[in-house]
Amino acid sequence: MKKEIKPWCLFQTDEDNYYFYDQDLKQTHLCHPLLFHILSLYGEGISPATWLEGINGNQFHIEGIGDFSKSEAEYYYQKFLHLKENGFFKEIDQGERISAELSPQAVEQTMANINQVTLEVTERCNLNCTYCGYGHFYGDYGERENMDLEPQFAHNLLDYLAKYWNSPLNQSHNRNIYFSFYGGEPLLNMDFIKETIAYARDLDLKHNYFTFNMTTNGILLHKYMDYLVENEVNLLISLDGNEHNNAYRVFKNGEPAFQVIMDNVEKLRSKYPQYFKDHVQFNAVLHNKNSVSEIYHYIREKFDKLPSIGSLNSTGILESKKKEFWETYVNIDQSLYEKEDYSFVEKDMFVKLPTISDLAIFLFEANHFCYENYNDLIFSKKKQKRIPTGTCLPFSKKIFMTVKGKLLPCERVGHQFELGRVHHHAVNLDFAAIAEQYNGYFNKMKRLCSLCYRAEVCKQCVLNLDTIEDEHPQCPGFLTDKHYGKDIQAFMSRFEKEPELYSRILSEVKFE
Ligand code: SF4
Ligand code: SF4
Repeated sequence: MKKEIKPWCLFQTDEDNYYFYDQDLKQTHLCHPLLFHILSLYGEGISPATWLEGINGNQFHIEGIGDFSKSEAEYYYQKFLHLKENGFFKEIDQGERISAELSPQAVEQTMANINQVTLEVTERCNLNCTYCGYGHFYGDYGERENMDLEPQFAHNLLDYLAKYWNSPLNQSHNRNIYFSFYGGEPLLNMDFIKETIAYARDLDLKHNYFTFNMTTNGILLHKYMDYLVENEVNLLISLDGNEHNNAYRVFKNGEPAFQVIMDNVEKLRSKYPQYFKDHVQFNAVLHNKNSVSEIYHYIREKFDKLPSIGSLNSTGILESKKKEFWETYVNIDQSLYEKEDYSFVEKDMFVKLPTISDLAIFLFEANHFCYENYNDLIFSKKKQKRIPTGTCLPFSKKIFMTVKGKLLPCERVGHQFELGRVHHHAVNLDFAAIAEQYNGYFNKMKRLCSLCYRAEVCKQCVLNLDTIEDEHPQCPGFLTDKHYGKDIQAFMSRFEKEPELYSRILSEVKFE
């Protein structure tokens, strides 16, 4: 079924400049107020020719826009016709554009080029953080039984992947593979980690090499730092800011964990200053006991590092916990802008903040004149088909294995979206079944996405939609042309006020 949508948005920036954005051509143009008015009429189904004929006398007034002469109106009407004849303002069949389907071959090809393997090393944890993704807010992660991942499962997965990495399907030669340990708290299963790193190092990889990473709460760092340093394991330490900011990071008995973490971090820094500088980063969760500004200042001033800041995952929340969850949840943009120093923080953190990464996505994805790679340049972006939603293709970001051997596209999706299994003697992955599972979701979303103005810049993961198993799923991010116009208006107003942002994004931001 053909789904045609009006292919342009009109908007006026804070500086009172008029623009139109042509969705089909992916072009944003500054335009004269009269052309803007003609496009508004055209968009509302009113004939600009009839409007022009109806102008009496030489001068006329348009409410909220200004005074003009009839000859000016005729001139801009001709401009409108000229643009129309040359491919602007064409009705587009967006359903056709986003109809691309995922094939089993594409899934297999992606698997052969996978560059991140993350293992859930253990379900055990020595903390009991209030907002934990495996905690009392959530109901979509399967039962936690304090299990550890068996080394045999890791061997099987690595052997399976190594065959692909060494196969002709792998086109990512000389590329780093990030091998990450995740929990629970990974340091509670250190024997597994040592054994698995040794096993991975012994694999005969012809084209790739490993970098080891770990996300840790830091409680056991004092015991294992020598090994971690010796093996250059990159650490992402969870820390929500200062002592008050860390109030949700507590031991099982409710005692605060902050001082123990800080003592360990300081020990690591003083014993291995160069390792600390090169291999340690911090990761903070935003909630109602901290703010973007507090997290930034604490980590920057204490350790001279820029933290990664994430919001609480808002999918899979138990009905009975929704009220408490939303009292704890804080939006990153809102937290940033409510503090006076937001401009300073934003400048330093830059693309680590969504306020800037959204601008970057708009520049790269909704702009015909920005090319991320030669493919974009040679094969016109506007002709490239895309799958509905902003979901990554399975295994394009990573493969995540749970302690039970479930294979998932990442650790941020519910365990019901299992794509395959590792068993004691085999790895079970069926590319045709995975493609079918994803295509099922995409087909359900296609109708909505084909009418949505966010389609080209969508970041919504289909696996994070609460209603995806319904016959007609809803999407909280759906945008009409008017709402999308507001988004672009905000982006362009920022570029007008801070033109240096444009060149900084183009020179510093890389999409992978
Ligand atoms: S949340 Fe969805 S889109 Fe994001 S990495 Fe995971 S599977 Fe991919
Ligand atoms: S925001 Fe939702 S409706 Fe819009 S394109 Fe993305 S997934 Fe589809």
